Amino acid sequence: MSALRIVWVYPDLLSTYGDRGNLLILSRRAAMRGLPVECFEVRSDQPVPVDADIYLLGGGEDGPQSLAAQRLIADGGLRRAVDRRAVVLAICAGYQLLGQSFFAKGQPCAGLGLLDLTSDRGPSRAVGELAGTVDPELGLPMLSGFENHGGRTHLGPSARPLAKVSVGIGNDGATEGAWNGSIVGTYSHGPALSRNPGLADLLLRWATGIDNLPPLDDAWPERLRGERLAAVRAA
Ligand code: GLN
Repeated sequence: MSALRIVWVYPDLLSTYGDRGNLLILSRRAAMRGLPVECFEVRSDQPVPVDADIYLLGGGEDGPQSLAAQRLIADGGLRRAVDRRAVVLAICAGYQLLGQSFFAKGQPCAGLGLLDLTSDRGPSRAVGELAGTVDPELGLPMLSGFENHGGRTHLGPSARPLAKVSVGIGNDGATEGAWNGSIVGTYSHGPALSRNPGLADLLLRWATGIDNLPPLDDAWPERLRGERLAAVRAA
């Protein structure tokens, strides 16, 4: 079997919140199922390979975020990978820059247009716990995370909300994140997959085509999810 190739896109620009965790979690969960994995870290002065299976984009401050968008547009590799239905997980700044446009440092910036959405600025920063009921089509439990962003995101008709918000702000206080095909974007921060192992396995299923991945012992992530949900309910 050929190795599952996972690319972490631009760790030098988009890695504000421990985003490497998503790479570690995906590769570990694949390896525990006996799947060979190759991980690549592609810096912003390198071309984005077109032939990988999963691409990860992390969060970032406004300056690095706008630079990342410019370089990704000029490079074109991520767009070509998406054209061949590669799987993408994009967090916060990485999520915003997959849309048509976003704001950084008060300026409108062009995004890659890989998701049908635009982002502008909200009245205040959204910081804190984030939880929501995931789109039933994805068959996942409650999304659990932590958010920290100034932007608000508005979905067009071809982007589906990832979740309906029950705690926090997400896109706009009503919906959180977006997905279309095999692209998922979320405001759930940093190593979002540590709190959402079901989402990690969904990405692995999409990337490998293996629908019956053997279950793993998720007692620890479940404990973390339970603890955080109990904390927000108590607040
Ligand atoms: N710069 C973007 C915003 O503030 C994204 C921030 C982030 O990735 N945390 O909305």
